[in-house]
Amino acid sequence: MLPQTETSGDRVARLERRLQRERRAREEAEWLLEAKSLELYNANSHLTALANDLEMRVLDRTHELEVSRQQALFLAERDPLTTLANRVSFARDLDAAIRTAQAHGGSVQLLFADLDRFKEINDTYGHAVGDAVLLEVASRLSTICRGTEMAGRLGGDEFGVICITPVESERARQIATEIMEAMSKPIDCGRLQLIVSCSVGFANFPRDASDSPTLQRFADVALYHSKSSGRSTWTEFDDTMAAELHSRQGLEVELRAAVAAGEIEPWYQPIISAESNRIVGVEALARWQHAERGLILPGLFIPLAEESSLIVELGRAMIDRCCQEIHPLIRDGRLDYVSINLSPRHLRSPSVVEQVLKILARHDFPPSALQLEITESLLLFDFEQAEQRLSQFRTRGVRIALDDFGAGYSSLSYIRRLPLDVIKIDRSFARDISDDRQSEAVVKAIVQLAQALDLQIVAEGIETESQAERMTSCGCSIQQGYLFGRPMPLNELMRHLKAKGS
Ligand SMILES: [Mg+2]
Repeated sequence: MLPQTETSGDRVARLERRLQRERRAREEAEWLLEAKSLELYNANSHLTALANDLEMRVLDRTHELEVSRQQALFLAERDPLTTLANRVSFARDLDAAIRTAQAHGGSVQLLFADLDRFKEINDTYGHAVGDAVLLEVASRLSTICRGTEMAGRLGGDEFGVICITPVESERARQIATEIMEAMSKPIDCGRLQLIVSCSVGFANFPRDASDSPTLQRFADVALYHSKSSGRSTWTEFDDTMAAELHSRQGLEVELRAAVAAGEIEPWYQPIISAESNRIVGVEALARWQHAERGLILPGLFIPLAEESSLIVELGRAMIDRCCQEIHPLIRDGRLDYVSINLSPRHLRSPSVVEQVLKILARHDFPPSALQLEITESLLLFDFEQAEQRLSQFRTRGVRIALDDFGAGYSSLSYIRRLPLDVIKIDRSFARDISDDRQSEAVVKAIVQLAQALDLQIVAEGIETESQAERMTSCGCSIQQGYLFGRPMPLNELMRHLKAKGS
């Protein structure tokens, strides 16, 4: 059916209603749009703020990370106390300098400087003062260096300077002289003023050495020369040192073999009692009977052994052999004891007490018939540790003697604090006692001190009757020296004892 025909009035009304509906819908849509845009705007501002904040935080963190990376790099390359180059970066810079010189010519001079007896400063005044000294030394070294020259702290009280020159030069000598001058001025440490001397050694690339390890070794050899020629001086490496080094290295190889083969043998020097005129003990001294070089004295090979762990092996072998050889004489009452020198390095070996006690047990050797001689130089390393080990020996009955007393630092606090039984007065007193009243007074004072501390006293280096008499009159009746016998091999000692009626 067809719809009824719409009137024009109806049509207008319908269109108006539709218009109104559409207007409302549009208004609603506009309102909604506005609300949504506002919401979006708000959200957007918040996000922007968040993003800005985040960006700031990322920047801050990146900066922090960069600072700590720089610090880590600095610490990895620098000595934390002095801020000089540390050993690692010093060695790397030296290698780089040598590579450059190899490629483009020029010369590299390497100086090693080492403070003399720095350990004493630490021991006497404490580590804070020691550190202040190191800081001042570092600062003086830095002042001396110019241009591309570089100073480093290689450890403890060891310093190095790298000096690069386009052609071979005298600059290293100049630096060495300047170091000596700089160190001769006292160092202020609060209320203290300390004088610190130092030894310097240096070598040249390419004149002396053709690579970095050799250059370092040669500079070290030169430094060693300065140290052994009385310290507080500088030494330039030269060919004679290279030859010496070569021969030392050869000797070291032979010494190692000799120790292993038992070719180092103890010789025995009598120690007598002036009261009973009897040989009470013997000091064992190492002798090396070399097939080609003849008899080598300990002054030559002991320092060599001391530079390596060989001294521990040599010391052990000596104690073992002495205990074995002397045991029958102790058992039969012909001798009271054997006295053996114990090197500082051997005493520092952690197993030394256990090792010696094992040897005694193996030979059934009475601990009270063993005397170990130590020197004052040993006490400069680690007093506490030395004291502890010596006490362990004494608890087991082994006697401890302080050798060469009066020759070195002779700190009286040492002899008071150390667990000692015997003091051996240095041979220089015997030499001077005949014609020097002061020497006699000092010996009397040492004897009194020893008596007060309940220590036995032995005079060394007695060569004449008059020295023996004077020492006895000072109260020192246990004596040792050429007057009573030189160091001798075991069979000779047996004959000597027999001749003396013991
Ligand atoms: Mg000795």
